[in-house]
Amino acid sequence: MVQGTANWNTGQTQEWLQQYVDDWVAFYRKHTDDGEVASYIPVLAKADPNDLGISIIGKSGMTVRSGDTETPFTMQSISKVISFIVACMERGVSYMLDRVDVEPSGEAFNSIMHLEMNQVQKPFNPLINAGAITVSSILPGKTSDIRLESIFRLLEQLLGYRPALNVDVYESERDSSMRNRAIGYYLLETGFLESDLNVTLETYFKQCSIDVTIDDLARIGMVLANDGMDVKKGEEIIPRQIARIAKVLMLTCGMYDASGKFATYVGIPAKSGVSGGIVAAVPPRVRDEAMPFTDGCGIGVYGPALGDKGNSIAGIRLLRHIANQWDLSIF
Ligand code: GLN
Repeated sequence: MVQGTANWNTGQTQEWLQQYVDDWVAFYRKHTDDGEVASYIPVLAKADPNDLGISIIGKSGMTVRSGDTETPFTMQSISKVISFIVACMERGVSYMLDRVDVEPSGEAFNSIMHLEMNQVQKPFNPLINAGAITVSSILPGKTSDIRLESIFRLLEQLLGYRPALNVDVYESERDSSMRNRAIGYYLLETGFLESDLNVTLETYFKQCSIDVTIDDLARIGMVLANDGMDVKKGEEIIPRQIARIAKVLMLTCGMYDASGKFATYVGIPAKSGVSGGIVAAVPPRVRDEAMPFTDGCGIGVYGPALGDKGNSIAGIRLLRHIANQWDLSIF
């Protein structure tokens, strides 16, 4: 790997940055051996554990992509950011914040224990399963397909095309997700759910099973980095206040019970999913003009081998390295 700190002032061209990123991806690909692909959703176990890819899109459109850039994967928990944004846009921010809190839980993403132990008034945050399932119950529509349609509509605006539902992954999760059903029943008993449990769970399983690529995640990250604006089109896709809340949640809760460490060592709002994806939003920074992407960027990462908290192990290490080299931290 390229050692030491480069003089970023001498480069900045796409080709020049590309060499570095290629080198870093090759190096961190070896780290995929330290993790394992998720298997509690059986179809996810088919992923190649050694895959690793990254896509970085800057405000000017400069794009650096490397590694396994073309492999599609399902959004999984990354969809929780999208469904929360959609619910806020449809129902209003205060309505949503009355029903789902914005506090890190410090527990695993699929924990049910904290709900009962703390006798909470509402689920801790929309990025853990209990909160996300509650959000799925609030999305407008009587059927899961109508609810999903509002998610697809926002994704289509963000990505410029309509992504597809991965039916194999959806059926695999639907038929294996006893834990999420348990969370659902608990939410039903405590009165947190706003609508029918089965429709809610179907919505949740489907939104987790939407196929994307790292370029798609980089585009989503870019819009969030710019407070909801698509800078290329000069169009606001997500209202500023909602984009900001989404970024706060990503920073404080996006990596589950590894969120504090990620904020400390990487310092970028980001959200992971168990299929190995990570979306990151890097806002503009004015500290050092010599650094690449000072006007902000969106980053998509894919690396299905996960660490013990359910986040892409090599993906996080790669992001940490790039954030340090290019001073991407928001702090
Ligand atoms: N669909 C997954 C689940 O509910 C999402 C979890 C995740 O990506 N961490 O278990």
